[in-house]
Amino acid sequence: MLHLVLRLQKSAQLRASGGDVITDCILILSETRAMTQTFVDTIPMLPFGMLNAFLISRGDRAVLVDTGLPNSEPKIEKALNARRLDWSNLTLILLTHAHIDHAGSAARVQMRSAAPLLAHHDELPYCQGEPPRLRPSGPFGRVFYRTGAIQRPFEAVTPDVIMTTDGFDLSEFGIAAQVLHTPGHTPGSVSVLLEDGRVIAGDLAASGILLGGIACRARPKSPPFEEEPLHVVASLQRLLSVGGRAFFLGHGGPLSAKAVQRHCDALRHRFTPRV
Ligand SMILES: [Zn+2]
Ligand SMILES: [Zn+2]
Repeated sequence: MLHLVLRLQKSAQLRASGGDVITDCILILSETRAMTQTFVDTIPMLPFGMLNAFLISRGDRAVLVDTGLPNSEPKIEKALNARRLDWSNLTLILLTHAHIDHAGSAARVQMRSAAPLLAHHDELPYCQGEPPRLRPSGPFGRVFYRTGAIQRPFEAVTPDVIMTTDGFDLSEFGIAAQVLHTPGHTPGSVSVLLEDGRVIAGDLAASGILLGGIACRARPKSPPFEEEPLHVVASLQRLLSVGGRAFFLGHGGPLSAKAVQRHCDALRHRFTPRV
């Protein structure tokens, strides 16, 4: 806001000195819009959309969704700087779940910024170092599992805010959005639903090839591991029913609501027991 006040003062000075009033008005309008608009920036943690974290920002307040693999702090700082923000602008760090590729830098980011870190209660064991239950969703998951990359331990993290209910309002952190408990990929997975229907869904779905991303990014798929596929279906259906229209994902994405519905139908068909 201070920035805008300074800008208005500068505009008045410009007008007094015969400056270009129309150009200046346009600049002020675009700056005002930038301060009231909610941006969702993808932070590329690996190239080609293979692994993403997200920065949601509005004006000078920002919420970080996921922290990437260990040592990802410079990538997060770069994303903040691209919005003319720094660590002090972070109001919340949020983990969609606690696999190493999403929570690997959480403890370091928590130390680096003054922002509290939020995770769901049911994800606490994974936050604190319990090996995740990894159920490969297909051939790539089985091969990937053998590499041991996903089972590597990472620095344990203790959340400051533990989500125990089904919904959590982000308005006090500067963002018009809700965090919803969306289990399935892991027991304590959460998604962020913005009021305009954009969703950050972590690993509730993926798109592309192999780990995700790379090519065919409009094509939905399961991530390499998925604990409870039918719980994933229920969680995705719920996000669709409350207005989810664009799904930003940890691997690949974004996906349209139509593609997510297609993925739900395929999972339901594959995993519903036949009688
Ligand atoms: Zn995961
Ligand atoms: Zn992941």
